[in-house]
Amino acid sequence: MNAVPALATAPLEILHEVFGYPAFRGAQQAIVERVVAGGDALVLMPTGGGKSLCYQVPAIQRHRAGRGVTVVVSPLIALMHDQVGALDELGVPAAFLNSSLDGEEARRVERDLLSGRLVMLYAAPERLLTPRFLAMLDSLSERGLLSLFAIDEAHCVSQWGHDFREDYLGLSALHERYPQVPRVALTATADAHTRADIVERLALEGAELFVSSFDRPNIRYTIAEKTDPKAQLLRFLRDEHEDDAGIVYCQSRRKVEETANWLVAEGISALPYHAGLDGDVRRRHQDRFLREEGLVMVATIAFGMGIDKPDVRFVAHLDLPKNIEGYYQETGRAGRDGLPADAWMAYGLADVVNQRRMIDEGEAAEEFKRLQRGKLDALLALAEAHDCRRVRLLHYFGEQSAPCGNCDNCLHPPATWDATEAARKALSCIYRFRQHGDTGFGSGHLIDVLRGKVTDKTRQHGHEKLSTFGIGAEVSEAQWRGVLRQLIALGHVQAEGEWNTLALSDSARAVLKGEVRLQLRVPSEARRGSKTTRRSTGGTERPPPLPLDNEALGRFAALKAWRGEVAREHNLPAYVVFHDATLAEMARSQPHTLEALGGISGVGSKKLEAYGREILRVLGA
Ligand code: ADP
Ligand code: ZN
Repeated sequence: MNAVPALATAPLEILHEVFGYPAFRGAQQAIVERVVAGGDALVLMPTGGGKSLCYQVPAIQRHRAGRGVTVVVSPLIALMHDQVGALDELGVPAAFLNSSLDGEEARRVERDLLSGRLVMLYAAPERLLTPRFLAMLDSLSERGLLSLFAIDEAHCVSQWGHDFREDYLGLSALHERYPQVPRVALTATADAHTRADIVERLALEGAELFVSSFDRPNIRYTIAEKTDPKAQLLRFLRDEHEDDAGIVYCQSRRKVEETANWLVAEGISALPYHAGLDGDVRRRHQDRFLREEGLVMVATIAFGMGIDKPDVRFVAHLDLPKNIEGYYQETGRAGRDGLPADAWMAYGLADVVNQRRMIDEGEAAEEFKRLQRGKLDALLALAEAHDCRRVRLLHYFGEQSAPCGNCDNCLHPPATWDATEAARKALSCIYRFRQHGDTGFGSGHLIDVLRGKVTDKTRQHGHEKLSTFGIGAEVSEAQWRGVLRQLIALGHVQAEGEWNTLALSDSARAVLKGEVRLQLRVPSEARRGSKTTRRSTGGTERPPPLPLDNEALGRFAALKAWRGEVAREHNLPAYVVFHDATLAEMARSQPHTLEALGGISGVGSKKLEAYGREILRVLGA
């Protein structure tokens, strides 16, 4: 390989030659330059922003300059195989060390590591501080062959984050032992709190901070009112994402299983994933999701960190996440390839009640609960918003922006109505229930009373005689649900006990006095999501990422079939061989020479050498 240190290669040259990309994106260049020069960096970039290149290009550059190996710390053992496979396809010597290797494989990797041949070594954090591993790092360090530490998913070091890993705390010891080795820490989740935590715990005070915009312009946000969630999900999948790969998040394991079974019965290829499944089953399902096309993964939040499948076309939430950080990270798994993708959520009264209850009944200390409540409130405000969702999301992460034109509220501005009077009626009815000597009732009964509907229950409790009976007949049931949801979301009403009976909280007084105005969106049960944006390409095939004429479509299909064979042979996901966008560009421009082929974005020198002739043959050149 590069036994003799060559003259330093410019990072841009490496980007062209190895990755086949024409230019750096956003802050990549500045980050790469900082790290190449031996400085520390803390990189905050949204999912799909291109974090990997920020350490891979410096790793290659520094290895070529004779500085040895970059150690990549990653908590994602299950994905290391594919990450190293992707580097292998690019012709970059890399390996991983984790518990999935047998003794002989591990010893081979260790030999390669000590020889200085490897450009990158991926390792799980628990491995790093073992005496055996440290002895190897010592040996490399003494010979000047320990080039860089890249700490991926750096938020795992923070107890505030949702992915805290005890082992990450040990990473500061590495720095103490090898203070001369530069470090780059990367994450897609870090509010100000988590960010400060990362800096402190990893002793990154001297690191340059690179914060990219968190906007993901290709993701369309939609938050629908939950009426019949299964039917709504099915309509969303059938109308807008037929044969697309995507993730459906549910809160509980049981709901994951139920939903996956139900989708399969409806003829949709779906798999369940949650922490209660056997490790083997989980691995198998994850592999299938990464390797096959058009699978729907129904999962709890146990699924997703580090999943770098670029063509996830949608992320759907059937339950409300805990906070905006979670929502943003989960939805961020859609559309890493930059092509249009959907983040869709169905949200209803029960979600608000459940999330509040989970916090209230949790074991956490009161201070932590207060923090959680605040975070939930921010998410509820987003869900209830009638203005641009993206503006609110970005604002939460400290960014100012203008209405985006690519969220449900921008595309179909919702009508609003003044619900101040209705809210007062609801509150006084809840108050009357209690006055009437009853303990309290749930939302269904309350709405019946407000709308003046006679039922067994109204008769049984004599509620037809209440002064509030029928005072809200002109407001629809869906609107009433919206009012209650909002009142609970704002904390004016609490749902208590096993039956979610409603009770006023202290702040209800201000609403009753008319001091709080409520402007709500008019529920739009009939309104479907943005009508099909997809063209049919004839069969069940998904449309290509570029408009292609019929002949080019044929070439695209042939290239995909060829890619599928290579991927199977190499035991890698197809996108590791080439992205759809790269194949589509090949099909469109139909290059006749290796040189022309090499000019296409995503075709680096190694892939050109390995596959160029084959591709020209498939293209009939
Ligand atoms: P992250 O880790 O930040 O989620 P990745 O490193 O997986 O993002 O990059 C997302 C996608 O963007 C990948 O498919 C990657 O190949 C592509 N990409 C990153 N940087 C560039 C670039 N400068 N030019 C073209 N494609 C890029
Ligand atoms: Zn918008």
